[in-house]
Amino acid sequence: MGDQLNVVNPATGELIDTLASTGPDELRAALAAARVAGAQWALTPVADRVAVIERFAGLVEANVDELAGVLTAETGKPITQARAEVSATVGRVRYLASVATGALASQAPDDQAPDGQAPDDGPGGTVEFVEREPLGVVANISAWNYPWFVGTNVYVPALLAGNAVLYKPSEYATLSGLAMGRLLGEAGVPADLFTVIVGDGAVGASVVELDVDHVSFTGSHATGQAIAVALAPRLVPVQLELGGKDPVYVTNDVDVATAAASVADGAFYNNGQSCCSVERIYVHADVAAAFIDHFVHVVDGFTMGDPTDERTYLGPLTRPQQAAVLEAQVAGAVGAGATVVRGGSLVDRAAGTWFAPTVLAGVTDDMAVMREESFGPVIGIAVVTSDDEAVERMNDTSYGLTAGVFSRDEQRARTVLAQVNAGSAYWNCCDRVSARLPWSGRKSSGLGFTLSAAGITAYTQPKAYHLRRG
Ligand code: NAD
Repeated sequence: MGDQLNVVNPATGELIDTLASTGPDELRAALAAARVAGAQWALTPVADRVAVIERFAGLVEANVDELAGVLTAETGKPITQARAEVSATVGRVRYLASVATGALASQAPDDQAPDGQAPDDGPGGTVEFVEREPLGVVANISAWNYPWFVGTNVYVPALLAGNAVLYKPSEYATLSGLAMGRLLGEAGVPADLFTVIVGDGAVGASVVELDVDHVSFTGSHATGQAIAVALAPRLVPVQLELGGKDPVYVTNDVDVATAAASVADGAFYNNGQSCCSVERIYVHADVAAAFIDHFVHVVDGFTMGDPTDERTYLGPLTRPQQAAVLEAQVAGAVGAGATVVRGGSLVDRAAGTWFAPTVLAGVTDDMAVMREESFGPVIGIAVVTSDDEAVERMNDTSYGLTAGVFSRDEQRARTVLAQVNAGSAYWNCCDRVSARLPWSGRKSSGLGFTLSAAGITAYTQPKAYHLRRG
């Protein structure tokens, strides 16, 4: 665990900031203070908590440009995409605030009598209901690729539900994380209720060792698994949002130009660094040649360059070390018979690590590029000859985050989607998250879920009341 964290601009190599990492003593103190602040917050009426979170949304909205600038500087995310993320966070947060009161209301059993009594308990019997209590102190260890989205998905519901939060942003998005903490404070989140923990993976591991009540983690499968294993002996509940190898199936009845434009954006937006980026394309043989033509035409139109430039669509890789993963996937695929249709290698620029948008055709499902998360601007396209084959190959992965079907025929698409083992199913869209719907990964893509009204209830524990007048 380093004492300091250097924040480097991945596009320029410039050192932006040097921050002190949160040390072990500070971690323990933060937990103790969070317990005290959390106990008070749990007693704060839900309407007051909602008002604080609504003020937070307003502050984010008022500072979109500045916050997007910070995000672009520390992650290399193109400025238009950074602005889109921060702006859309406002809507997500407002939605969650709007459904919190209902999600946190006490509940009576469905068959309860109007006087609140259990139906089989006779006159003067027992009144039964459930109250939702907060979990206590929630640790949130988070990722850098969409720090505003994946952070607020967890800590906004957790705060609304009455918890305290120890939030460890990724070491690649710490300045954004600190900005979140500052704005929450300005919005009225009491001192010590939300603490930003600064540091790398070793600091994250120390957070996991703390006596917290719940851990929500967003990041890679390997780290998520390590966290689950570390928490298992203490039976600390854990929620995991992990990686994906998200497939899209393009049927033979589509408008290929429209489908190609949407799928290419789903594969390359944010440089392919999204958990729900399109990572595998299965296209029906009848339209494969035309689809690939349109697809590479769209890719050729993507502008790579300075992320602060409004015209830029592709920035640098946020983590330079991912280049080796991408190079190995491309080399492995080519060695096994795939064709590089576009890109395939690093792009030489003065500073930073830039990978050309890469399209591979003739890929097979045993290649690493079709099995392991690429998390970069590399996509493989395989040809299938039937919907059944598409279903089988879409499911041939250890991941299960999202899956999409492009077709004019809703019934056909829904028949395929019903058979795919993924937490989110898209028809004629992809790479999409809605605050109204639960966000969940199956198999190696995660445990539990965030978002929707149920994603607020998820940060509570039921207390079952049995009340009998003496
Ligand atoms: P990562 O696993 O490298 O790091 C995630 C976080 O874990 C960071 O804050 C890091 O400091 C911390 N960490 C690292 N080692 C740790 C340890 N041993 N104990 C505790 N904490 C530790 O992942 P990343 O590179 O930040 O994010 C990319 C991954 O996240 C991709 O796999 C992506 O698909 C996934 N992701 C998933 C979702 C989703 O909603 N399913 C959303 C965004 C990102």
